[in-house]
Amino acid sequence: MNDVRPLPVPRADDAEVAARVAATVRADVRSLFAYHVPKIEGMVMLHANENPHPAPAGLRKAIAAAVARVAFNRYPDGAGDAVKAALAAALPVPQGAAIVLGNGSDELIQLLTTAIARPGAAVLAPEPTFVMYRIYARQSGVPYVAVPLRADFSLDEDALLAAIARERPALVWLASPNNPTGRRAGAASIERILAAAPGVVVVDEAYADFGDASLLPRVLEFPNLIVLRTLSKVGLAGARLGYAVAHPAWIAEIDKVRSPYNVNALTQAVVPVVLAAADVLAEQVAAIRAERAVLAAALAARDGVTVFPSDANFLLVRVPEADAWAERLKRNRILVKNLHGAHRALENCLRITVGTPADNRALLSALDTSP
Ligand code: PMP
Repeated sequence: MNDVRPLPVPRADDAEVAARVAATVRADVRSLFAYHVPKIEGMVMLHANENPHPAPAGLRKAIAAAVARVAFNRYPDGAGDAVKAALAAALPVPQGAAIVLGNGSDELIQLLTTAIARPGAAVLAPEPTFVMYRIYARQSGVPYVAVPLRADFSLDEDALLAAIARERPALVWLASPNNPTGRRAGAASIERILAAAPGVVVVDEAYADFGDASLLPRVLEFPNLIVLRTLSKVGLAGARLGYAVAHPAWIAEIDKVRSPYNVNALTQAVVPVVLAAADVLAEQVAAIRAERAVLAAALAARDGVTVFPSDANFLLVRVPEADAWAERLKRNRILVKNLHGAHRALENCLRITVGTPADNRALLSALDTSP
């Protein structure tokens, strides 16, 4: 709310507040930067790996009807049972596996890190990968061990197994398909990592809908596997719904560090309606996959551009000059993720979310304008 009161209000001295903050808040927290999400208007948004297709009118109507029935005066169902039932019906969740819901899978990454953060515990991940694994480890005071991917962004399995043997990590993160590389890990590699890891291995399948491999149906086969997923990439980024699937013994521990009502009533009302429209989701995912191939071919045809293979809804591309390309696109009101400088291995790399055919045409014609 804007402060429009005309009279001065009693206000503590800013220096006194700053001194109290410095004396109270953990030094390692004070040294962090808040995750910055810029406000964007009027841009073609190819930077955040969202589904570019809005829900069709019929589905929007069903969503509106579900929202109208929400009892806002009541707390939501703390367990989210209707959402879990809808997920179990829509996905190959094996019988006997349990599900925990999160406010996005981001929250579940934080909760998993919290749950393992005892003195001596470490987390390990191949890099470059999703940055929140490192950020939440840092928040929890847990050492984070990064194991470089190979130059083509495939898993360096030998290096990973050696690091697991050396560090004995409590938690291994494996994003598959990986962000920002788009590559997925082979099932045999993941199985060897599961066998070697002394703690839990979380396979983060945020982008699994855009590829053909998932460990979800096999989650009960291994004693230390958790599969993490989200609805953000298939069209519900705004609803914030992530979920983890595993043996009930793992899920019970995550439940203990979860806020009682972490998934709000609106999301709980909307998700089952959207999952019931499986045909709409499947059609949009198929359109994105088809468009991914078109965009990859068009980009690869340009001088000096390398397009890395992707099983996700984005393409990682190496261009002659990432900063200049990103600037030129921005001037044409197109936003992509410039990864140059984010990691040694990502020199001159851009991550480009697959948009609608019109978005992608706009991207390509912006690249044709003079620099
Ligand atoms: N995992 C990976 C690999 C991601 O790329 C993302 C989104 N950037 C997330 C998890 C988090 O997604 P959300 O919190 O929207 O579910």
